[in-house]
Amino acid sequence: MGIVHGTDLERVSSWARPKLQIRDNTIGDVNLARYCPLKDSGLDFQLESSSLGDLDFLPAEIICRILVRLDFFSLDTFRRVSKQGHTIVSRLPELNLIKRQCPDVLRAVIGTSARHFDLFALHKTLCSSRCTTCQSFGGYFHLLGCVRVCYDCFTELDIHLPVHELEAAWVFGFRPGDVEMTTYINTIPGFYTTARTCQKRRLLWDQATLSRLRKSDTLLNPRNRDRLWAEPRRFMVVIPAPLLDPTTVEPHWGVHCLGCSYSHKPGATFRTQYTPQGFLKHISDFGPVLVEDPVDRSRHAPIVEVEA
Ligand SMILES: [Zn+2]
Ligand SMILES: [Zn+2]
Repeated sequence: MGIVHGTDLERVSSWARPKLQIRDNTIGDVNLARYCPLKDSGLDFQLESSSLGDLDFLPAEIICRILVRLDFFSLDTFRRVSKQGHTIVSRLPELNLIKRQCPDVLRAVIGTSARHFDLFALHKTLCSSRCTTCQSFGGYFHLLGCVRVCYDCFTELDIHLPVHELEAAWVFGFRPGDVEMTTYINTIPGFYTTARTCQKRRLLWDQATLSRLRKSDTLLNPRNRDRLWAEPRRFMVVIPAPLLDPTTVEPHWGVHCLGCSYSHKPGATFRTQYTPQGFLKHISDFGPVLVEDPVDRSRHAPIVEVEA
């Protein structure tokens, strides 16, 4: 046991850990490579070796700016148009960064048939660090909202609970086939939460979008239909997602505080993730960490008030 002194970087590596030794049971724990292998022939054709038809008069830079505004299924269709289309898509920097640093997020997007956001939106979300609802580090990507969320928010807040088709009808008045109901995913079979195996695919809609479309403040009543951290639906629509950084080989996954290993304080639980800067702020608020052996028994040292 002892208080670790040193530089800020040493504090982060000594008082925090990159991963918890427990499964999340989100989409990230499904064998995504089996459900959605990323197709890449590795071919890189010469740009002048084929045609894009009517788009040939546009400079490649303009075409790239248009392509990032397509969803992944439209991008795949464009890729199949010609060798030149294949080459332009395979060279998109945004797509390559996601493929390189978090291929499972891309697999989850394609595997769940998520068509309601484009490459630009996904790249922008993955390059930002904050949870959309609490502004702390959001270590998960929410496929329905195309937003970052933290564990506490996606397991507790009504707005992050996906809804079934029948619930969309009961609560928001939508009918099957309504053209507005485009924000949905087709779930991947797997083991979600701590006790549920879900073998069938099912369609889930984004509650926030449906509520916005109906200009309604009504949300699904959680007391009747929502089991929060034990609700499989909440885990079927999120996947762990690192903070992408084009200047580094590895992305940033965030860290967990050792001193909060048993904490359930709001905003500072054992699940809370931090960027290195956010972790230093946490240390200044909660005090240095007394590192124990085993590390799960570590605690924050009391902050001693110094009289002026
Ligand atoms: Zn949050
Ligand atoms: Zn802590």
